Amino acid sequence: MPVGEWRSEWFRGGHLVLDFVNTVPWRLDAERAADRLPDAGALIGWCCAAGLFGEQRADELRAEAEAEAVPGRALVVAERARGLREELYGLLQPVAVGREPPAAELGRVRQAIADAITHAEIDTVVPLRWVVAVRGVEDVPRALALSAWELLQFEDLARLRQCQDRGCGWLFLDRSKNASRRWCSSADCGNRTRARRHHARHRDDSRPPPETSSGTSR
Ligand SMILES: [Zn+2]
Repeated sequence: MPVGEWRSEWFRGGHLVLDFVNTVPWRLDAERAADRLPDAGALIGWCCAAGLFGEQRADELRAEAEAEAVPGRALVVAERARGLREELYGLLQPVAVGREPPAAELGRVRQAIADAITHAEIDTVVPLRWVVAVRGVEDVPRALALSAWELLQFEDLARLRQCQDRGCGWLFLDRSKNASRRWCSSADCGNRTRARRHHARHRDDSRPPPETSSGTSR
């Protein structure tokens, strides 16, 4: 579960890979868009918060990333992870809005998953579960790519959605009973959108447009 500086409201995707893609908040709003994974330290912290590995492994990986001999390698790994994140977004976002993903993104993600599978091991047999053991920082993008394989193979992609807030851009799996979830959070993006619509219907009001307090959590 999310720990430390990683807030639980940043994990709304319903799948590790979607939460990974959602480490860019306000993706559709150029002025507010940010990147929560600027370096290897942030990447390791996020993976730990997301449950990919425990605190002890996170400490070992941080020490490895900070060691004199490998800072360049850690930078490359962080860049590779961000690259994978954008490839996954490029593939998943069109699916979420009912379009065909571009062939280029399919090819890149296919390559990343093929590489992850060649490094995967069987963790448990019943139920059968594959893992990429994270022994060093360079295994982190592979572990995330293996998780992308799980998402694409085992989840119902007809339930993949993009938050309908105009700036949010987060992706999530709609696990609601009647498949009617429209926002990453009804209390956050949902409220803000409803307030904006309400304001648009009452333009005579002299009040400024609502940016509700719930919208400041990111
Ligand atoms: Zn949202």
